[in-house]
Amino acid sequence: MRRHDVVVVGAGLAGQRAALAAAQAGRDVAIVSKLHPLRSHSGAAQGGINAAVGAEDSVDTHIYDTVKGSDYLGDQDAIEFFCREAGSIVVEMEHFGTIFSRGADGSLARRAFGGAGFPRTIYAADRTGLALLQAIYEHLGTETITVYEEWDLVQLIVRDGRAQGIVAFDRKHGTFEEIAARAIVIATGPAGRVYSRTTNAHSCTGDGLAIAYRAGAWLKDMEFVQFHPTALLESGILITEGARGEGGILKNVNGDRFMTKYAPHVMDLASRDVVSRAITTEIAEGRGFPGEYVHLELMHLGKEKIESRLQEICDFSRNFAGVDPVNEPIPVRPGQHYMMGGISTNIRGETSIAGLYSAGEAACVSIHGANRLGGNSLLETLVFGKQAGIAAAEYALTAALPSITADDLSAAERPVRAMQAKKDGVEPLALRSEIQSVMDRWVGIYRNPADLGKAWDALADLRRRSSELRIIDQTSSYSVNLGEALETQHILDLAEVIVAGAIARTESRGAHARVDFPKRDDANWMKHTIAAFRPEGPQLSYAPVAYTRWDPKERVY
Ligand SMILES: Cc1cc2nc3c(=O)[nH]c(=O)nc-3n(C[C@H](O)[C@H](O)[C@H](O)COP(=O)(O)OP(=O)(O)OC[C@H]3O[C@@H](n4cnc5c(N)ncnc54)[C@H](O)[C@@H]3O)c2cc1C
Repeated sequence: MRRHDVVVVGAGLAGQRAALAAAQAGRDVAIVSKLHPLRSHSGAAQGGINAAVGAEDSVDTHIYDTVKGSDYLGDQDAIEFFCREAGSIVVEMEHFGTIFSRGADGSLARRAFGGAGFPRTIYAADRTGLALLQAIYEHLGTETITVYEEWDLVQLIVRDGRAQGIVAFDRKHGTFEEIAARAIVIATGPAGRVYSRTTNAHSCTGDGLAIAYRAGAWLKDMEFVQFHPTALLESGILITEGARGEGGILKNVNGDRFMTKYAPHVMDLASRDVVSRAITTEIAEGRGFPGEYVHLELMHLGKEKIESRLQEICDFSRNFAGVDPVNEPIPVRPGQHYMMGGISTNIRGETSIAGLYSAGEAACVSIHGANRLGGNSLLETLVFGKQAGIAAAEYALTAALPSITADDLSAAERPVRAMQAKKDGVEPLALRSEIQSVMDRWVGIYRNPADLGKAWDALADLRRRSSELRIIDQTSSYSVNLGEALETQHILDLAEVIVAGAIARTESRGAHARVDFPKRDDANWMKHTIAAFRPEGPQLSYAPVAYTRWDPKERVY
């Protein structure tokens, strides 16, 4: 049987940083990833990574901006730790070979990002994620790490109160495989494909969250879903906040710069929840363009700046929307972008299960609270990926040998083989798109009890039909259909948790905007939502928010 001290599931920035830390601590480390590491969604990140470096900025301002951005739901002890680590972790990435953009004096260039009191977003043109991912992947070559590439995590084995190993599906050979591990780190990234209008890659189906949840780990704050204000019309491809950071402005059908009304001080650079609600309101009140979008104008920045700082944005706009941002506005509207919630962890990446750790977008520490600031997520992958790797390595050093059995393997394999054996039933992609349209329609930016109720009932119906899922494609090597069936089950689990949390939370905070409860309610709701798996549906409970120095105030931008 395969056995490693530490198995890291996911090879994005969080997974690779965790693997590096665990290997540097001397453990035998393996990475399991359903994609080639360089195809991880981290590589799609455009705008940049935050760190308060340089004399004019301060770590305290970064902490304050993040606390305020979180609408006071972020844990302040975790945020303090996170912002203090930022400078050294970014400089380390620079030493690993990341080619960051530079100012005229050779120092790291920084741009303004939404909700930030200072331009502190360090970037590599508008390809920051790819630059970071390539650098860490090269650096990982300095350690001996086994990589199981194109293997999907299917099940976590938890026995005797601790994680013992995993079962994975080898896409190439079409076989189920088991790996015993003294410690496991889940770094499987985003779950944006719970929605169809999303900036996330098709692979972002929240697998690790759903699998950990089913194995008994808690999910935290899942009702907080970030919608990015500027996704390209039709395709949903992200137009980075860096475009507004460089001076881009939003306009409605009347040519008005409407953000002056919603955020008089910082306008287009208010935090994402604020700008997304503003766009939605403009469209709902008839001031959007036919087809429900607004314009993002960059023309006034000039060809030179647009083409050097926002190269990818130019390519995306030209190729996917047929507009040239040098001469024309870009048609945009909000799209799902990020899950503030995830597997509940502390600063060390520890979950509610011994031996199980999590980091990156799959995890919820929580530093983003009810709304994440742009540039804080790339940073989170590295800061907490490293911490999870260190903690997992420590645990593995003294943990007893893990035990997994042949029964574990067959228990994970049986339901999948049963879906393959079905002669008729529901096609995974059909079910997936129904789940997505429920979420797009009824669990969007503004939420009301009637729509949430409809979503809940529709998901219950889809849950019943999910027992009819059938894998049509019988090829043993690279059965795309098999992967889709697994992923569809994951997004169904997560959709239920999001809706349950959103129904229960009778206030508006950050990205969760209830039209029937438009105000933040600190007396009753300054608390994290915890969801535990029960066969009959998610069981919710609540946990306190950690405070250090910042008393809740009204959030004005
Ligand atoms: C278009 C876009 C632009 C963004 N821009 C920025 C930005 O400028 N700044 C910023 O701070 N943040 C940005 N973000 C957010 C940020 O990029 C992500 O939150 C972060 O990169 C996630 O990293 P990760 O390591 O957690 O996950 P990922 O990089 O997505 O990696 C997940 C890994 O898990 C693996 N995996 C998934 N499921 C399984 C499974 N079942 N079995 C095995 N392996 C599995 C995948 O193969 C992959 O290797 C952006 C996000 C998007 C979508």
